[in-house]
Amino acid sequence: MSESFEFQAEISQLLSLIINTVYSNKEIFLRELISNASDALDKIRYESLSDPSKLDSNKDLRIDIIPDKENKTLTIRDTGMGMTKADLVNNLGTIARSGTKQFMEALSAGADVSMIGQFGVGFYSAYLVADKVTVVSKHNDDEQYIWESSAGGTFTVIPDTEGEQLGRGTKIILHLKDEQTDYLNESRIKEVVKKHSEFISYPIYLHVLKESEKEVPDEDAEEVKDEEDDEKKPKVEEVDDDEEEKKPKTKTVKESKIEEEELNKTKPIWTRNPQDITTEEYGAFYKSLSNDWEDHLAVKHFSVEGQLEFRAILFVPKRAPFDLFETKRAKNNIKLYVRRVFITDDATDLMPEWLGFVKGVVDSEDLPLNLSRETLQQNKIMKVIRKNLVKKTLELFQEIAEDREQFDKFYTAFSKNLKLGIHEDTQNRNLLAKLLRFHSTKSGDDMTSLTDYITRMPEHQKNMYYITGESLKAVNKSPFLDSIKERNFEVLFLTDPIDEYAMTQLKEFEGKKLVDITKDFELEETDEEKKAREAEEKEYEGLAKALKNVLGDKVEKVVVSHMLTGAPCAIRTGQFGWSANMERIMKAQALRDTSMSSYMQSKKTFEISPKSAIIKELKAKVEADGEEDKTVKSITTLLYETSLLVSGFTIDEPVQFSERIHKLVSLGLNIDEELDTADEKADDSTAAAAEGESAMEEVD
Ligand code: ADP
Ligand code: MG
Repeated sequence: MSESFEFQAEISQLLSLIINTVYSNKEIFLRELISNASDALDKIRYESLSDPSKLDSNKDLRIDIIPDKENKTLTIRDTGMGMTKADLVNNLGTIARSGTKQFMEALSAGADVSMIGQFGVGFYSAYLVADKVTVVSKHNDDEQYIWESSAGGTFTVIPDTEGEQLGRGTKIILHLKDEQTDYLNESRIKEVVKKHSEFISYPIYLHVLKESEKEVPDEDAEEVKDEEDDEKKPKVEEVDDDEEEKKPKTKTVKESKIEEEELNKTKPIWTRNPQDITTEEYGAFYKSLSNDWEDHLAVKHFSVEGQLEFRAILFVPKRAPFDLFETKRAKNNIKLYVRRVFITDDATDLMPEWLGFVKGVVDSEDLPLNLSRETLQQNKIMKVIRKNLVKKTLELFQEIAEDREQFDKFYTAFSKNLKLGIHEDTQNRNLLAKLLRFHSTKSGDDMTSLTDYITRMPEHQKNMYYITGESLKAVNKSPFLDSIKERNFEVLFLTDPIDEYAMTQLKEFEGKKLVDITKDFELEETDEEKKAREAEEKEYEGLAKALKNVLGDKVEKVVVSHMLTGAPCAIRTGQFGWSANMERIMKAQALRDTSMSSYMQSKKTFEISPKSAIIKELKAKVEADGEEDKTVKSITTLLYETSLLVSGFTIDEPVQFSERIHKLVSLGLNIDEELDTADEKADDSTAAAAEGESAMEEVD
């Protein structure tokens, strides 16, 4: 009985997009279907390691490509895992995948159809060349079923009792569009397989129809001899004349039979000598491994010998995958082989998560073949392999860093991973820190490394300084920079949310402390500077006290600062809590543990600069009118609020803040109270605006 299903809406959309595309490079459909077949074979092979009986339904692991010119169909058959009825319904149509939408968005942004595999929807590329696709599949746990669809929003699934029984596996029958029948030609198929699927590790057999001419005994002729002689024809010349006369009469007939020709006989590339492998070959291997449509950025091919023996090839892609930091993405990108036999691409322990973007293969001589998922995780050999892979990967990164242009690409794509690595990998932290690049007060349009920063440090500078914030624009005019720039010290700009995590873990670089200048810290000063500072602190002590009384709990303390020059004031946080930037990031992460945040919440120090005219005037006013004076209170609050903004915090009461500003504006424009109230009777708060200082006095 046939059941009909509707495609999930986005898949339906994708299908009509694919079926109608004028895109010319349609050949990639074959790569996608072969890659799916190979995945399915991987799965059954892996399951059979812990339960060999799973292969009973068919021990031969292979892929067959069967062109049928008469019916204009191209069939791709595998003896892989197969799909149950539920799998067919879910995997080929009803379960939404995040890549569907993202792929369509990428397409409309000019991406290439051949990228389809990377988005996890490669199967649908079948509709580039077919207007109808039939999938016959048999899974060990279910009967054989037929899935079929001509797109158009629906597909059907029916049990398959009458058709050829597969034993186990999947057969994809493409009913080719009239203009796509070129894919039935032997030479075209060979060309496409060679180009895209050469490194598939299961044999791919192309079924070719061979017509041959054959000599058969001519029954009608006289003097028939036995067949044996006929087959020994090459011997003819050796026999004497007498015998030749006895040669049987034969005739020529045409015979056609199907021959299976293996298309991918190259031996595994990692077993070969790196010197003999061309960049193109690595590229082709990388593409087959990764579904990427572009070449890799860098490659490292090596072997480890001694106590432990393995070979590996590691690739760094040119771009980050679209789902790099998606939490659900558990997939590891390193394929594990044991003595040339593929074991799994799911050995998540082979690479740490922060290196999840590195792709490649590892072929171990030491691991047992019958590895199960559980034993893999505890295996000591795996741990050693992992350590080596990380080491070699870091070497590869350093090699990339030698070429400026390459490194720029690499850094754009994967700087987040490096920073994660600094956060997580204590052992390699320093090595990774050398790869970091930041904009800075001295770097201009380029970015600088920490190593280069050090070469520019004046002799009396002890620490390395950085500022954290939301964007370059937000940080490069920060009042915190003033005094440090004045001393000719360089400040790094950290504007990626992950920067601060990484830097606080790193703590120091080449013996130099890394200091966040938005937090409390001690700036290097000469004896003279120290004297001047202490004198000023004394002079402004009274004002600081008064302001603390006005601001109350809003701030931890009020201090006289020698580290601000132009700006009247700023808000600095304690050395150990969050910075303003971190508080912003944490607030943006919904559902965070709130107990943690109250504990880490930034302790705010309100700093005032004695060099600022505003502060000087404020001091005079407090001395004249006292801290209870309404104008003093109002101005102090306003200064506090603007400092919050400049220092990267958000304002808790934006409405009150804007009212204070509006009153200042009214003052500046000499708007008189009567006129104002007449115009906006309804609004009490604006109505309060008045001339002169009384305007400020109305608010607190
Ligand atoms: P992906 O391969 O990235 O998962 P595809 O769109 O190519 O995405 O395939 C979708 C899913 O359909 C696969 O994940 C798999 O579950 C199933 N599938 C496709 N082809 C086969 C096959 N030959 N054998 C078994 N399952 C398959
Ligand atoms: Mg696929």
